[in-house]
Amino acid sequence: MDYKPSPKELTHFPFLKKAQDHIKARFSTLDSLLKDTKGESLINLAITRVHDSISPKKIFAPVVSDSADDEIAAYALARIIVSCVNDKQLIDRLTRYEAERMYYFLVNEEEWNQNYRLEDTGYSRLCIALANELGIQIIQDRMPLTDYVELVSPLHEDRFRLVNRHLSQGFVEIKKEERYELLRERTRLVIRHDLPHKVPSFICEQLAPKVTSIKKVYQEQMLQQFGAIDENAFPPCMQALVLALTGGTNLTHAGRFALTTFIHSIGMNVAEIAGMYARSPDFDPEKTMYQVEHITGRGGSGTEYTAPACAAMKTTGLCVNRDKICETVNHPLNYYRQKKKYSPKTKKEGAPTTDNPPASPR
Ligand code: SF4
Repeated sequence: MDYKPSPKELTHFPFLKKAQDHIKARFSTLDSLLKDTKGESLINLAITRVHDSISPKKIFAPVVSDSADDEIAAYALARIIVSCVNDKQLIDRLTRYEAERMYYFLVNEEEWNQNYRLEDTGYSRLCIALANELGIQIIQDRMPLTDYVELVSPLHEDRFRLVNRHLSQGFVEIKKEERYELLRERTRLVIRHDLPHKVPSFICEQLAPKVTSIKKVYQEQMLQQFGAIDENAFPPCMQALVLALTGGTNLTHAGRFALTTFIHSIGMNVAEIAGMYARSPDFDPEKTMYQVEHITGRGGSGTEYTAPACAAMKTTGLCVNRDKICETVNHPLNYYRQKKKYSPKTKKEGAPTTDNPPASPR
């Protein structure tokens, strides 16, 4: 039977189609909503959501104090706001936050849901409805191999690797406690899929002051996270690019793009990036500034590019000299974050080292 969650239940899973349908009839068009006082309070709620997503500490409270309609609308508005910012990492942060939030409410459902009812299958009816919409047969103890591989590819824990799984006739066995984790991962993929939205420019213009404040907080937070630049913590791929640059080798377009986006993401400004390229014996200031400004979004396009992930680096032949930390990451920025955290300058006694790397961030 098709279970119809209450508005309160939908509040905790605002990405569900039923949740989005629920608010469509409640609010006027986005354009007029943004101009009235109700719109103002919803935007503030959405901004809080984006702030929560970039905060290093995630706290989820089982009780949601705002109205169900407002909470669901704030979810949709937060997606519009990050689409206006159009920064891949910020979008990733928000989608990861939403997936974590959904996971929290799912595993703690008994605490907050007055309608909680456990079915004979051992799962609540809300969980089953959620899993059905996300296309996961939660009550089954196995999953088609292709679905499994797609879902777990961003997960780096050994227990998810195919060599550690029991395979039978094209299916992978899934333990009960792992199924919520796979639901979380599916949620992340589903809500990431259509971001960034194509938001009309006049909407982004109306949101501009809020967007600017989010960008500022986010950049400050990134700077805090990465701190002072530490070239010793660069991953081997980036070290190789810097070495090639210094040695006078002409970097390929893909190499320049990867290095520029990487060093921009860890906090180098345009002048500092140009300074790094000045190490090249055939440094051309004008050409360099043009390329750097284009890649960092200051060249008029407004698009700020993000450093390629390890998979893309492999495809372009830039993934070289892999080491042990590389086994635990899927992005050069994750490598940098890990190595910097445990570099000799910051390492505390007993902390993991490069020979004994910490668990990979998801
Ligand atoms: S695995 Fe990733 S971080 Fe390591 S060298 Fe390759 S691209 Fe760089």
